[in-house]
Amino acid sequence: MNAWHKEITIALLLFVIVTIVGGITGWFLHLTLLLVSCLLIHQVIQIHRFEKWLGRMSGGAHPNVSGVWEEIYYHVYRIKKNNKKRKKKLGKMIDQFRQSTEALPDAAVVLGANDEIEWTNKAARDVLGLQQSDKGQRIPNLVRFPEFIRYMSSNDYSEPVIVPSPVNNHITLSVRIVPYGAGLRLMIAQDVTQLKVMERMRKDFVANVSHELRTPLTVLKGYLETLQDMDDGDSPVLTASFHQMLGQTERMQHLVDDLLLLTRLESPQKKTACVNVPELLGEICREGDTLSTKRIELSLETDSYIMGDEQELRSAFTNLLGNALKYSPEDSIVKVRWYKTNNGLTLAVEDQGEGIAKSEISRITERFYRVETKRQKKVSGTGLGLAIVKHVLMRHDAQLVINSELGKGSCFSCHFPIKRLCH
Ligand code: ADP
Repeated sequence: MNAWHKEITIALLLFVIVTIVGGITGWFLHLTLLLVSCLLIHQVIQIHRFEKWLGRMSGGAHPNVSGVWEEIYYHVYRIKKNNKKRKKKLGKMIDQFRQSTEALPDAAVVLGANDEIEWTNKAARDVLGLQQSDKGQRIPNLVRFPEFIRYMSSNDYSEPVIVPSPVNNHITLSVRIVPYGAGLRLMIAQDVTQLKVMERMRKDFVANVSHELRTPLTVLKGYLETLQDMDDGDSPVLTASFHQMLGQTERMQHLVDDLLLLTRLESPQKKTACVNVPELLGEICREGDTLSTKRIELSLETDSYIMGDEQELRSAFTNLLGNALKYSPEDSIVKVRWYKTNNGLTLAVEDQGEGIAKSEISRITERFYRVETKRQKKVSGTGLGLAIVKHVLMRHDAQLVINSELGKGSCFSCHFPIKRLCH
C-alpha cells in the first residue's frame, strides 16, 4: 500500500471510530471537531518542521517521520542532493575556466552593459594596468586613448583597434570586442608589438630601396637617351637594344615612383585643402587626351570642391583614367563624370573595354595584382595603380565601387561623403 493510501485509510478509520463513539455517547459533533483539529495541528507541525529543514542549506538527513511526509522528505532530499552535486561540478568548471583564462597570454576583460569591468585576467592587469579594485569602473575612464573611446562607442567591432599599452607605450595592443550573452562583452587585447615592428621594417625597407634606386635609374635613363640620340641606326640590334633598355628603365622608374607614393600614403596625412575637383579633372583629361587620340568625354554635373590633398587625388584619378584608356580599344570612348548624390559626391570613370571577371574584382586593388588575360597587345603596368587609388580614397573617407562586365566594360566610382564637400 503506498503512503497516500495508508494516510487516507488511517483518517477514514479514525473517522469511523469517532462516528461509532459519537453515536454511543451522543457527542458526535464534538468528537469530529476534535479529530479534525488534531489532524490539522499534526499537519501544521509537520509543515513547520519541513520548512525549518528546507531552510537548513546543509541538506543533512531529514527528521524521522512516517507516511506521506516521509515520501515528501525523501523526494526533496534527493533534489537537494542532486543540486549540491551539480553546484559543485559547475563551481569546478568555473574554476577551471578562470584558471585557463588567467593563464591566457592575451588580456581578457568581461564588460557589463555600461562598459563597466566585471572581471579581468592577469594579462589584462599587467598590460592594461587594471587592478582588482577597478571592478565596476567603466573601462573608457581607465583606458583613455581617443581611438579606443571612439571604438567602444562605435558599436562596430568588425575590425580591431590598435592602441599603445597604457602602462608601457613601447607595447602595441590590438584590441577587439566580442559581444556575447545578454548585453555582455568580452574585450581581448593582443600584444602585436613584434608584428608592428616587422611591418615598420618592411615599410622602411621598401621606402629605402625605392629611394636609393631613384638616382641610379635617372642616371641610367639619361645615358641611354644620349646613346639613343647618338645611334645612327647602322646596327638594328643596337637600336632595338637601346629601345628595350630605355623601356625597361622607364618601367622600373614607374615602379619605384609608385612604391614611394604608396609609402607616403601609409604615413599620416599632412595638410588638406579645398580641392577644385572640376579644374583638376579638366587638367587630367586634357593630359589623357594628348597621350591618346580624343577619347575622353568629361561631364562636370556639379562644380563642387572637396576637402583633401590635391596631389593624392591627382594620382588616384590619373590612375583610374589611365587604366580606362589602357584596358579598352583605342577607338572607344571613356566617360568621366563628376556629380552630386543625396549623400555625397561621386567621380565615375567608365570605359567600354575588356572588363574584369567577377572573381577578380575583389583582388585587383591588392598590391602587384594584375589580371592575366590573353590580350593581343601586352599592356604595361606595375599592378600598383589601384592599390594607390584605394589608399588615397581611404584617406579621404571615400569608397571605391567597381562595376564590370567581361567584354563590355568597367565603371570605377569613387564615392566621397558629404562631410568632404567644401564649396
Ligand atoms: P596595372 O594597371 O599597372 O596593372 P592596377 O593596379 O592599376 O595595375 O590594375 C590592376 C589590374 O586590374 C590590371 O592589371 C587590370 O587587369 C585590371 N584593371 C584595372 N582597371 C581596369 C579597367 N578599366 N578595365 C579592365 N581591367 C582593369
